[in-house]
Amino acid sequence: MSAPEASRIPFNKPFMIGPELDYIRAAVERGHLAGDGPFTQQCREWLERSFTIPRALLTPSGTAALELAALLCPLEPGDEVILPSYTFSSTANAFVLRGAKPVFVDIREDTLNLDERLIEERIGPRTRVVVPVHYAGVACDMDRIGAIAERHGLVVVEDAAQGVNATYRGRFLGTLGRLGAYSFHETKNVLAGEGGALALRDAADIERAEILREKGTNRAKFFRGEVDKYTWVDVGSSLLPSEIVAAYLCAQLEHCDEITAQRLRTWEHYAQALAPLAQQGRLRLPCVPAECRHNGHMFYVILADAAQRDPFLAYLKQRGVQAVFHYVPLHTSPMGQRFGGRAGQLPVTEDLSERLVRLPCYYGLTRPEQDRVIETMFEYFRTGAR
Ligand SMILES: *Cc1c(COP(=O)(O)O)cnc(C)c1O
Repeated sequence: MSAPEASRIPFNKPFMIGPELDYIRAAVERGHLAGDGPFTQQCREWLERSFTIPRALLTPSGTAALELAALLCPLEPGDEVILPSYTFSSTANAFVLRGAKPVFVDIREDTLNLDERLIEERIGPRTRVVVPVHYAGVACDMDRIGAIAERHGLVVVEDAAQGVNATYRGRFLGTLGRLGAYSFHETKNVLAGEGGALALRDAADIERAEILREKGTNRAKFFRGEVDKYTWVDVGSSLLPSEIVAAYLCAQLEHCDEITAQRLRTWEHYAQALAPLAQQGRLRLPCVPAECRHNGHMFYVILADAAQRDPFLAYLKQRGVQAVFHYVPLHTSPMGQRFGGRAGQLPVTEDLSERLVRLPCYYGLTRPEQDRVIETMFEYFRTGAR
C-alpha cells in the first residue's frame, strides 16, 4: 500500500503568507536589486523593533550570520570554542574556518540543549567562545551559561537559527549573548528561501560587522556621509542578501506573529493528542521549561527504543507521512573525528539522536493532516512491528 502523491504529507513545505510577490515586483520596479536597499532596511528595522535588538544585519544565510559572528570573536588558530555536538555543521564550521577547535559538550536529556552543568569542566586556557544552540526554538539555560561565560571571559554567540520569535524570561532569543544568529532558510519559521541575520549589541562589533559584511570596506559609512570615499579597511566578504530575498523576507516578517501562532497551535495539538502514547511509554514528548516561550519550530518525539526508529519512519512513509530524524552528532562525524571526537564521549547526544523523530510541522499544515499524522502513529503502535 502506498499513499497517492496528492495526499502525501511532507515534512516541510515552503509557503507564502501574502504580499511576497508584490514586494518582489516592487523591488524589481524600483530598480534596486543589490543588497542594503529599502527592503533590507525594512527587515532590519522590523527585527530591531520587534526583538529589541540594537542592530540587526541581514545576511545571505544563517551560516553566513554565524561566520560573521565568528569573524567578530577574538580567535587565533588553535583557540577553542564550546558547542553542542547535536547541531548543524554550520555551528562548528563558522569557527573551524577561523582555525579554532570545536570542543563538543553533551546535551540535556530534557531540552536537548547544551548541558550547562558540563561546560566548565571543558574550559581551558584557550577557550574563547561558547555557542548555545536553541534547539527547536526552546532556549538554553542562558542565565547559567551567561554567568559561566562572564566568569571565564568567554564570548557568547547564540545560534538562534531555530529561535526566531521565541523568548527566554521574556527576552528574545538572539539578544541574550553578545552575538545572535538567525536563519530564514525555507525549513525555518520565517522564510526567505535562503537568508539570515546577525543580532549585535556591542558598539565596536556593530562598526566592524558593517565593514566585514561589505567586503572589508567602509562603504556603509560612506553612504551615511561619515567619510568622503570608501576603501578597503579590513578583511571581509560579501554577506548581503539581494533585495529580492529581502522583499520575500519582509512580507514574512510582517506576519511573524501569525506564523508563530499557527505553528504553536499545531505543536499543541500534537502534544495533546500524542499524550496517551507518552503515558503508555511508547515515546517521550518535548519538554519546554517554564521560563521559555518557544515558537513551534519543531515537533519531535523521542521513541522508547532506537531499534524502533527505522520501522516507525518506514511505516509512516508507506502511509504518506514524511517524518524524519535529525542530526548525526558532529563529534562522531568524519570531520568531528579529526578534532578527537569518538563514539562513547557524549552519551546523551548519542542516545537521543538515535531515537528522535520530527513530525511534519509547517505553516499551512491543516488540522485534518495533523490528525492523519497522529492517527498513523497510533496505528503503528497498535498494529505495526514493535
Ligand atoms: C538552519 C540552521 C543553521 C544554518 O542556517 P542556514 O540559513 O541554513 O545557513 C545553523 N544552525 C542551526 C541550529 C540551524 O538549525
